[in-house]
Amino acid sequence: MRIDILSIFPEMLAGPLETSLLGKAQAEGRLEVALTNIRDFASDKHCSVDDSPYGGGAGMVMKCEPVFAAVESLRSQNSLERVVLLSPRGQRLTQQKVRELAAAPDLVLLCARYEGMDERISDTLVTEEISIGDYVLSGGELPALVLVEAISRMIPGVIGDWESVETDSFFAGRLGPPQYTRPPVFRDLAVPDVLREGNHAAIARWRRKEALRATRIRRPDLLVDLDSEEKKLLAEIEQETPISEREK
Ligand code: SAM
Repeated sequence: MRIDILSIFPEMLAGPLETSLLGKAQAEGRLEVALTNIRDFASDKHCSVDDSPYGGGAGMVMKCEPVFAAVESLRSQNSLERVVLLSPRGQRLTQQKVRELAAAPDLVLLCARYEGMDERISDTLVTEEISIGDYVLSGGELPALVLVEAISRMIPGVIGDWESVETDSFFAGRLGPPQYTRPPVFRDLAVPDVLREGNHAAIARWRRKEALRATRIRRPDLLVDLDSEEKKLLAEIEQETPISEREK
């Protein structure tokens, strides 16, 4: 998969893209990420990429000309079928959206700065706007990195053990189970016995149940489309800790 990221601060992206699993995914040819500096496509003598907003008011707005030119320059390497603008006004990112984007052969990510981009860019070039949450950052670079890392985890081979992806929070619509490592007892806090007894069926059942318990407590909104096993486990959980008791 190829991802082109367009920004006026591509240097913010280079380090994280070379690090750890993202760097390895690119070295192994599973993912190609290319950075384009929008400023390289400014045509005036000051290389300006922004201007003051029509109608007045605070801040600056990113101009159409360099952004259009930068996106259009990618035409020979990228289909430009999915041009995503990172924006707090966009659709909030979910794991489901990440999986959908990871299935595309290529993607363009547009990072804005200042007050955002001229709306005509959204109206014509951009195919969707994505927000990473209901808060405002100073630019789209960190959101683009969030998106690239989340997408990379969906590409076969990037995470060595696919089972670890499948049991992650949100993959199957629930939170993930709690995890423990050595030592077995730390300051009187013991690891649950079942995890140390080597009974794989019992461990799988325990993990499924504890994932449901965490989901029920922290994100009850996710508990939809329960299968019969989940209904049984939730009934057990309710007997052990009724919601009403927990809230007292
Ligand atoms: N004036 C804009 C608004 O009210 O929606 C905010 C502009 S923000 C200071 C600059 C840029 O950072 C945005 O255009 C976007 O590219 C990026 N950005 C900020 N917060 C974001 C978020 N939650 N998700 C995705 N991108 C974000």
